[in-house]
Amino acid sequence: MQDTNILIVGAGAAGLMAACTLAKAGKKVTVLEARDRVGGRIHTDVDGFVFKHAELGAEFIHGNLPVTMQVIREAGLELISAEFEMWQHRDGKLERGQWDTPGWDKLMHELYKLKEDVTIGDFLRQHFSDEQYESLRQSVIRFISGYDTADPDKASAYALREEWSGGNDDPQYRVAGGYAEIITYLADESRRHGAQFHLNSVVEHIALSDEAVTVTLTGGVQHKAGKLIVGLPLGVLQARTIAFWPEIKQYEDAFAQIGFGAIVKLLLEFKEPFWEADGRQRMSFVMSDAQIPTWWTQHPVRTRLLTGWLGGLAAERKKHLTDQELMQIGIRSLAKIFNKSETFLKENLIAWKVVNWTTDPFTLGSYVYDILGSHNARKVLSKPIDDRLYFAGEFIYEGPSMGTVEAALTSGLEAAKKLIA
Ligand SMILES: Cc1cc2nc3c(=O)[nH]c(=O)nc-3n(C[C@H](O)[C@H](O)[C@H](O)COP(=O)(O)OP(=O)(O)OC[C@H]3O[C@@H](n4cnc5c(N)ncnc54)[C@H](O)[C@@H]3O)c2cc1C
Repeated sequence: MQDTNILIVGAGAAGLMAACTLAKAGKKVTVLEARDRVGGRIHTDVDGFVFKHAELGAEFIHGNLPVTMQVIREAGLELISAEFEMWQHRDGKLERGQWDTPGWDKLMHELYKLKEDVTIGDFLRQHFSDEQYESLRQSVIRFISGYDTADPDKASAYALREEWSGGNDDPQYRVAGGYAEIITYLADESRRHGAQFHLNSVVEHIALSDEAVTVTLTGGVQHKAGKLIVGLPLGVLQARTIAFWPEIKQYEDAFAQIGFGAIVKLLLEFKEPFWEADGRQRMSFVMSDAQIPTWWTQHPVRTRLLTGWLGGLAAERKKHLTDQELMQIGIRSLAKIFNKSETFLKENLIAWKVVNWTTDPFTLGSYVYDILGSHNARKVLSKPIDDRLYFAGEFIYEGPSMGTVEAALTSGLEAAKKLIA
């Protein structure tokens, strides 16, 4: 049995932010992480590609976000502005411009009239079931799947109304040396202030008593502490792969009241950036009706990497396909969008990776979205249990940057502050 002041389970952005804050405040911190690396859903691959790095998980900083920018400044990291020149492929044509959605204003008008929250699926059935709205319905579902990675029959209409009411003109950035630089900084700072890290430590059981909390790993090793921060992904908590003793029923019910999406990310590197032909040198994003509908380049940095994004129900349905099968679907999608033969694309493919976060046992999904009742659920989860067990993670965050690294960092910081107080 190993003893410490504070245990942190999960070394993602939330767990590391908490570890760093607590270690700097002089606390004795031990971090238990299931994988052989820190960072969780932030994972910059520096080995597998000809390109100097590729983001297998989080990639963008969506605006001048306070906690993220604070860490970036402290760490002295460089950002690259991610310019978004949007293209769309529809009815066999690849054209510059946003995917326009006729009827959007009417949709927002009806959303504002809602007196009670419903799922967006029910909302569409109630107000836009007529055949004339088929294209509007498809666009809404495409948007919810792509951006929120959500199931329309669970996603809250109120939450989407709020999301769609905000402007969409925040500056977007990438971390020049890779998102993992934030993670490396937080982990190094934590270690420098005495935090201990145990990788390859899969937590199976968490027991709370009046005096302490005891965490048991696969294989039986135990860690004991006065306080515990659980920084696990919501997907893992929902799957109940970790047993709590005594049961924490109210909290387990709350886990189920927040949506957790599905995502598969594809990274394909080619001999040449063939997509740049025909005036597409500045192309950032392509939205399409192909099976892997969304693709992006690294513009303004010129690379040979294309990233594909399959989210929401479509990802859920395809999550059990092999990486090879998903890559084939990716190639087929690109052939359709760029009017190239599959043979040409395969001959030019030099490296590829499919990152199936939805079946990854230490994530089991993408990131959170609101379903009916999520607001109350987060209130429950943000309350510590017996002043001993605290939750941290993007799923706890109440603010405008839901489902992001900013949300995870903020929640880690808040859990640490509560614990210090
Ligand atoms: C494909 C993808 C793209 C994304 N893109 C963006 C983006 O562009 N911008 C953005 O801001 N956000 C993005 N996000 C969301 C962002 O990555 C997350 O919100 C954030 O990283 C979550 O951090 P976290 O610490 O809450 O959870 P995680 O990063 O998931 O950390 C949880 C940790 O717990 C560990 N763990 C799990 N089970 C156990 C166990 N049994 N025992 C011990 N440890 C365990 C995990 O290995 C992990 O390290 C993306 C997410 C995905 C999946």
